[in-house]
Amino acid sequence: MPADSPAVEIDGLVMRYGDKVAVDGLSLTVARGSITAVLGPNGAGKTTTLETCEGYRKPQQGTVRVLGLDPQRQRHDLLPRIGVMLQHGGAWSGVRAMEMLDHIAAMHAFPLDTALLSERLGLADCGRTPYRRLSGGQQQRLALAMALVGRPELVFVDEPTAGMDPQARRTTWELLEEIRRDGVTVVLTTHHMDEAERLADQIHIIDRGTLIATGSPSELTRGNRSATIRLVVTRPFPDSAPESLRFALGPDAEVRQLDDVSMLIVGPANSTTLGTVSRWCETHDVLPETLSLGQRTLEDVFLELTGRQLSA
Ligand code: ATP
Repeated sequence: MPADSPAVEIDGLVMRYGDKVAVDGLSLTVARGSITAVLGPNGAGKTTTLETCEGYRKPQQGTVRVLGLDPQRQRHDLLPRIGVMLQHGGAWSGVRAMEMLDHIAAMHAFPLDTALLSERLGLADCGRTPYRRLSGGQQQRLALAMALVGRPELVFVDEPTAGMDPQARRTTWELLEEIRRDGVTVVLTTHHMDEAERLADQIHIIDRGTLIATGSPSELTRGNRSATIRLVVTRPFPDSAPESLRFALGPDAEVRQLDDVSMLIVGPANSTTLGTVSRWCETHDVLPETLSLGQRTLEDVFLELTGRQLSA
């Protein structure tokens, strides 16, 4: 297949569990050699989509191609070329960490050096520990090592840093960036915006099984409007606050109340907007705790698109 053809092509994928539609006509592509994040809240359909790409589930409608292959019919050709990091381990409970990694390595023609890989992922000290006795973060790191040990061309990582401490998260991110430099394609699911913003070349935001936005982190956060203002106050806002602030700011700005004491304003990043907000606080006897102007985050983008918070 041509070198510039997508690593993953999903076209009109529909997946249901009984009456529940988990993936609802999803179409997206993943460029070769990229880190692509599939971002969405809990239950958005990320894991189901990945499992279909990995050949664990058969598309009920639509098509999926991974490295140009059908993950169901051409599973035997595809499996040696991909790595899969499952959300829930994938190792036997009694097996020791290094035994498991060596076992997976032995299935591949040209595996990485398992001692070096486990050292890199901070697993060297728990190599003799049975899988079920590993901490959540250690199990995650072992799962990542198992996905990478066969030198895959493409690796699927589902919530790679869930349960990891900050140091392990950073090591994981560095490792994923390193394998991208070696030309490996990485598809990751996450509901952590900071992870997607830090790592991804391309982000697909999905919600309720459909694609709602796609772009690089800067394309998604730049948008048409330039900034967000966060206003956090010391006492709960009066009931009419969002309407009266909207009225004061005029049609160019969008106002959303996030909770009792915080408001998100998306609009032109200029001193007029800030001045209006601070005058509004004065007129309504509202004391700001913080009034900050910043670039939109992916969280803001998600909120604008769906009216809900990504991390909720
Ligand atoms: P999370 O971030 O929580 O892992 P997700 O985006 O990966 O969520 P999926 O796990 O793909 O989402 O789930 C999509 C929807 O399908 C959810 O509503 C979930 O409850 C439902 N679902 C997933 N697996 C099953 C199953 N085996 N049986 C029934 N419903 C399921």
